[in-house]
Amino acid sequence: MSSQPLLPSNHPEHIASVIASKRRILFTTILTTVLLIAGIIFVSVKGEGVPSSKDPLKLANYYLKSSPVIDGHIDLPIFARAGFGNNIDNMDLYGDLKNRYGLISHLNIPKARKGHLGGFFWSIYIDCPKDAGPDFLTPYNGPRDTLEQIDVAMNLMDKYSDVFQLCKTADEVMEAVASGKIASLMGMEGAHSLGNSLGALRMFHALGVRYMTLTHGCNNAFADSGGIFQPVTPHWGGLSDLGKDLIFEMNRLGVFIDLSHVSDQTALDALSITRAPVILSHSCARAFNNISRNVPDEVLSKLGRGKHKVDGVVMVNFLPTFAAPGGVGVDVKTIADHVEYIASKTSRDHVGIGSDFDGIDAVPRGLEDVSMYPNLFAELITRGWKQDELAGLAGGNLLRAMRGMEATSLKMKQEGKKPSMAVYAKRTDL
Ligand SMILES: [Zn+2]
Repeated sequence: MSSQPLLPSNHPEHIASVIASKRRILFTTILTTVLLIAGIIFVSVKGEGVPSSKDPLKLANYYLKSSPVIDGHIDLPIFARAGFGNNIDNMDLYGDLKNRYGLISHLNIPKARKGHLGGFFWSIYIDCPKDAGPDFLTPYNGPRDTLEQIDVAMNLMDKYSDVFQLCKTADEVMEAVASGKIASLMGMEGAHSLGNSLGALRMFHALGVRYMTLTHGCNNAFADSGGIFQPVTPHWGGLSDLGKDLIFEMNRLGVFIDLSHVSDQTALDALSITRAPVILSHSCARAFNNISRNVPDEVLSKLGRGKHKVDGVVMVNFLPTFAAPGGVGVDVKTIADHVEYIASKTSRDHVGIGSDFDGIDAVPRGLEDVSMYPNLFAELITRGWKQDELAGLAGGNLLRAMRGMEATSLKMKQEGKKPSMAVYAKRTDL
């Protein structure tokens, strides 16, 4: 039972407490504004001295308390689909979730709290069509299944509404984190989920989707995929005409363009026309492992600040077979190497974490689940990373890019840009 009255009383003590609370709100607003500008999350941490850098893990935990991790890609919804048929009644997020294949979830609530997970993009993923046909027109249940993945994500957020909070803006992420909730964003993995339709994109945005990976491991009507370990034969040579309309519409709506999984040419095409910052929600650097799924230097060279560069964040994937050839010997140091390499090609303002937890069947030593993020931060502390840089890596860089993405959307609407009426040329039903 709350001791707060539902309606304000006129008692002087109550009035004093209202004034004090208004002052607190004003202070919080000013503080939040300052931190928004800095692009860094800082939740106040009371009564603790700063631990010595001689104990990097303790220091990492201390830093992460005030600027927790916002992970770009966690596959809890597909874990629910594959393991539980999306039946959330059978899912206890306080226990060790074991799916029907015996895999234990990398995420549960106690592990998330231990690892300072402040928020994440719930990945809304469904498989590519088995045979899309020569023009990607073979009917399939992709859009229905995608809606079911949004449904299962939202149902889990509701079931644990004291823990998770659905967020659609960077400000909402800040508010959720400040109130001790795990900010819950949704990102769609692959434009094959759209059924070739920009109208479908607008409806997914209305449901709360805030990024979309342009492809998964298959080409689609909008763009060519990079494949996974080997490139797939290009269909369009990058973005299709409809893909260019898709970029416009994502910019206008305020949906991050996610360039993980896409072919190099698709990434370069998208970077040449996007007006908003982009992300790579879960990618390793190709420099360490020459597979098509990893981001090449040529794409990294286009990201950053300055002329002819696009603001963006590359969020590092933890899957060992992406991080190193054959996945051999991958540990927390290997993942730190990827973070540092991507930062060296862009800057420390352009890296983030996109673990791919619950979507991967192997993990690095020292980063086995969401409770282990502090190990990565401890490793980077030993390599000289400072608190503000680590706060950026944790989530500040992502939120800065998200604000940029939101600002582009606002600007395009102010310019009078209308929804794109483009229709896939191969469709005959419209
Ligand atoms: Zn993926």
